[in-house]
Amino acid sequence: MADNKNFNFPPVNGGKNRGSRNNSYWIYILIAATIIGINFFPFAPKPVQTTWETVKNTMLTRGDVEKLILTRDEDKMNVYLREGTIENYPALTANGFKNNTGGPHYTYKVPSVDISEANIDEAQKTIEGAKDVTRDYDDSKSWLDNGLVQLLLMTAIFIGFWIFIMRRMNRGAGGAGGVFSVGKSKAKLFDRESNVKTTFKDVAGLAEAKQEVEEIVSFLKSPDKYTKLGGKIPKGALLVGPPGTGKTLMAKAMAGEANVPFFSMSGSDFVEMFVGVGASRVRDLFKQAKEKAPCIVFIDEIDAIGRARGKSPNMGANDERENTLNQLLTEMDGFETNSGVIIIGATNRADILDNALLRAGRFDRQIYIDLPELKDREEIFKVHLRPLKLDTDVEPAFLAKQTPGFSGADIANVSNEAALIAARKDKECVSRQDFLDAIDRIVGGLENRSKVIKVNEKKAIAYHEAGHATVSWLLEHAHPLLKVTIVPRGKALGAAWYLPRERQITTREQLLDEMCSVLGGRAAEELVFGQVSTGDQNDLEKATKQAYAMVSIFGMSEKVGMLSYYDSTGQSDFSFTKPYSEKTAELIDAEVKALVTDAYARAKGILGEHMEEHRQVAELLIEREVIFSDDLENILGKRPWAEEEEGATGDAPQDEDL
Ligand code: ATP
Repeated sequence: MADNKNFNFPPVNGGKNRGSRNNSYWIYILIAATIIGINFFPFAPKPVQTTWETVKNTMLTRGDVEKLILTRDEDKMNVYLREGTIENYPALTANGFKNNTGGPHYTYKVPSVDISEANIDEAQKTIEGAKDVTRDYDDSKSWLDNGLVQLLLMTAIFIGFWIFIMRRMNRGAGGAGGVFSVGKSKAKLFDRESNVKTTFKDVAGLAEAKQEVEEIVSFLKSPDKYTKLGGKIPKGALLVGPPGTGKTLMAKAMAGEANVPFFSMSGSDFVEMFVGVGASRVRDLFKQAKEKAPCIVFIDEIDAIGRARGKSPNMGANDERENTLNQLLTEMDGFETNSGVIIIGATNRADILDNALLRAGRFDRQIYIDLPELKDREEIFKVHLRPLKLDTDVEPAFLAKQTPGFSGADIANVSNEAALIAARKDKECVSRQDFLDAIDRIVGGLENRSKVIKVNEKKAIAYHEAGHATVSWLLEHAHPLLKVTIVPRGKALGAAWYLPRERQITTREQLLDEMCSVLGGRAAEELVFGQVSTGDQNDLEKATKQAYAMVSIFGMSEKVGMLSYYDSTGQSDFSFTKPYSEKTAELIDAEVKALVTDAYARAKGILGEHMEEHRQVAELLIEREVIFSDDLENILGKRPWAEEEEGATGDAPQDEDL
């Protein structure tokens, strides 16, 4: 949901990077030039092996030989042909020689220097074409021709290149771009000159969190105010909360408001395939930050590196991440002081973070950002409705009521989706209905009216959904119903939509009533058609999970007792073994089964008593496809239980699909 992670303004140190990158462009140019050179200017072809007889009978006879040079040490004669004659010899052209390619062109072994001299003397006397052939000796030796020397040279070049890359990598701030700068931190720097438009005004709601963050900004702006009483500026703060609740937005606002440099990077930016790079990047980040202090360093998704260190030292794969974390721990509260550098981390998994990271002195403050409550949602809607052209019937307060459990990102999405829906209908402005359609779409998925559903299937779906609706209508603690539909949406064939009450705690009765209404669909199918179908799988899964939670987490079973086997830290040793005995496991299973069976029996009882009303709801549903709570009130009568006041956060609207 964090769609705006990458701030879309250029880092102010961009110019610096560019300059230093230029320095190492020569290495790329050198490599490219070598490759091009090898392709376009190949080394001279090697001379072709021949014999004295061929030289004498063909080349000398034709008068093609320019000179003969004898290498005495190797008993080898090199034959140089005259320019223009070379292409008459197919063996040469096949070897890559052209008419103007320099020699030697042929070479042959001589039995001994004396015999060779005698042969040539003889030929020069008898063959006309051999008369002006120049004769010479070549006693110099090229060390490059030595195979061993060549091999050593190649190895030296290769090792040199490798050392060069490694140095660049380790040096980190070496300044080169691309692969050579892997050790350099990827943090983007925003300061006064950067064009950061987000301010605290763009962050709606979240009053307490905003206050804490604003305080940190003010620490940096006027530290004396706080330090004159002897207090110390906090070293760091951790923003914790579910996805899309505005943690990154808050950091962005901080960057916009703080008059100090602001470094931003994501936890995953530390991770690279090379070993040691993460730690090097942490070092580099803090080096840069200390140079710019006072400043703020923001690390988004800090769980990517801050995960608790493993207990077993054999898990080699984690070494790199652990090294990175260790480096971060040292930098945050190590021997060296880094006064004036405030670290802000953001995560939605604070439970899995290493304890050492969370202790005071590193992240002194944990700022919890929860899903927005009713009032906050209204504020967030106001922010996101600002740019839209709205109809008069759109009220943020009404929309906030329709969206319990929605995060700030969901609300931003609803607002945008509503505008798109209105545009699709060629409307002049966005109306309330567009918002309701957008909410439906986001909760339930896209409407799928073209899905082929047989008549008897439609009837089964209608009775199933009517079962949910009737049972929940008649139970005191079930969520209030909003509407029932049998229009397929996403994967679901039908759904009963509820508007969950926003509550902080849930009682046993509420859980039991919700379980009962979840099973209302299956109960209806069994009562009306005498058979059950696979469509209930989702309902059964929900009921079973709820029952297991009641027994093994919330301690709501008398037989099992007030025990909770849940480990909220996620760091226990229970991951492979259960924290209870086999006997308790059997007891838990039996209790879960009893809870679900009881709830099912209750649902069947309620439907049995209200068969006729249930039938009417189902038939109306078949006729209209979508019915609302008013229709249910007409059939079943007004619910006697007054709706509670809207309170705090609740679950997302549920849809019970078939
Ligand atoms: P994640 O944990 O997934 O990284 P996050 O908490 O960092 O999520 P953000 O990226 O800050 O979430 O939020 C995503 C979008 O949601 C924002 O760009 C903004 O449009 C909207 N949003 C979230 N909270 C608020 C808020 N309090 N006020 C206004 N808009 C909000």
